[in-house]
Amino acid sequence: MAEVAPKTNLLGMSREGLERYFSSLGEKPFRARQLLQWIYQRGVTDFALMTDLSQKLRERLVEAAEIRPPEILSEQKSADGTIKWLLSLPGGNAVETVFIPEPDRATLCISSQVGCMLNCTFCSTAMQGFSRNLSAAEIIGQVWLADRRTGDRRISNVVLMGMGEPLLNLDQVGPALELLREDLAYGLAARRVTVSTAGVVPGIDALHEFPPIALAVSLHAPNDALRSRLVPLNRKYPIAELMAACKRYLKGCNSKQSITFEYTMIDGVNDSPEAARQLRRLLSDLPAKVNLIPFNPYPGTPFHCSSNENMLKFQEILRAGGLIATVRRTRGDDIDAACGQLVGKVLSTSQRRMLVQQQLARQALA
Ligand code: SAH
Repeated sequence: MAEVAPKTNLLGMSREGLERYFSSLGEKPFRARQLLQWIYQRGVTDFALMTDLSQKLRERLVEAAEIRPPEILSEQKSADGTIKWLLSLPGGNAVETVFIPEPDRATLCISSQVGCMLNCTFCSTAMQGFSRNLSAAEIIGQVWLADRRTGDRRISNVVLMGMGEPLLNLDQVGPALELLREDLAYGLAARRVTVSTAGVVPGIDALHEFPPIALAVSLHAPNDALRSRLVPLNRKYPIAELMAACKRYLKGCNSKQSITFEYTMIDGVNDSPEAARQLRRLLSDLPAKVNLIPFNPYPGTPFHCSSNENMLKFQEILRAGGLIATVRRTRGDDIDAACGQLVGKVLSTSQRRMLVQQQLARQALA
């Protein structure tokens, strides 16, 4: 029996990618525009229903191609309206996606890798170890699925703040960013798509090759000694290099753009008034917003969240220096959907990884 060629998944292909695909079939590139609208605006995956394509082309696509999002393994709804999906991926892995409705916006938090290799000492994703990069189809597929399941609450913002480090998977994150911005797909404005990085300097420099988006940097500490203990990547790209990359990035943006710095508030570790003053100095010469994230606990971590009093004091010190500083409201914590609580299912995990993390965390506390 002749081998059946695997079908090409058209989900996750940017407009250019689809144009190349149609050219390879001997079709006009404008077919790409039609397909984008069918997939992302109308949510249709069945080529037979795409009535503005010729009958012949529809039949050909049914044979050769598919539009395949990941499968939903489970859906959990929080009392506050947050929804968390666990999505199954080939090979037994799974990642998580979180929908966060608010009065004025509805944000989808998506994953970019199965697990993560950066091993931040306060993040539960790190404990899972790293399995692999997600494909562009698996990344944009999270948006596609959520969009189908959230009814009339349209997704207004997408943040790459789920599992994984997006700037270590730019090949696949890139086409997903293009589809989020593309008018014929999701058409989101640049400020409504946020890429969050733990500080991958070459990745920040590479961002100018992609459509404009908003950048968030996970800082978490105002000096190298502390940051290296919380975010081990800091040993490779210390704060001075990270800040220089942020400034290069801003140079290429329009003048109104600022960078959001995420700072997880951990009791007795990085939440002192002195740390706030250092942070204020560090961010004094670039357009910066600070997002203070209450530490979200998970089983096995020795860390605790800062007290409300300390968080407010910290925020006040930043504000007194003219910085915009907000405290992120914790959402979906009854279903473990808050920052740093996404674990999915990473099959390459070894228990060792967890022990190493706990040891590093205890050292950071000492
Ligand atoms: N790897 C990227 C994307 C993850 S974004 C990055 O590091 O930016 C998720 C954000 O939540 C990051 O700022 C991360 O440092 C933070 N975070 C991780 N664990 C957390 C926890 N337990 N509580 C609060 N925030 C946490």
